[in-house]
Amino acid sequence: MSDENDDKFMKQVVSVEYDMKPSPEQVAYSKELAQHRIVGQQCPQCRLTYVPGNGYCPICAVAIGEDRRIELEPRGTITSFTVVEPVQYKGQQEKSPYVVAAILLDGAGVALGHAYGGAAQYFAMWVVSDRMPD
Ligand SMILES: [Zn+2]
Repeated sequence: MSDENDDKFMKQVVSVEYDMKPSPEQVAYSKELAQHRIVGQQCPQCRLTYVPGNGYCPICAVAIGEDRRIELEPRGTITSFTVVEPVQYKGQQEKSPYVVAAILLDGAGVALGHAYGGAAQYFAMWVVSDRMPD
């Protein structure tokens, strides 16, 4: 059994480049979200609605076409949440605590991840109220 004083640390700068191309469904979701609309895709077999859509249903193993996009109301249930205290590592831009929540939109089959607070608050579309924002 090692004593914690035996721990060794190494400092090294690592650079990782990502080359990710958004899927057609991710592009459609982002465009609609910019217009304050939430769209998902409904599986033609099991009728589960995925938000955002991903072009397929992993349960039925079938493709879901663009014709299966549906708009959902910006209303749902917070199924879980956590408060994130950002660790101040090199490059960290977030300084303030923020909330990450999973929201199951009414009519959706899977929860949507969402962040609120800190510098991310401009992404928030929902308010805890029975009124929609103006
Ligand atoms: Zn399905």
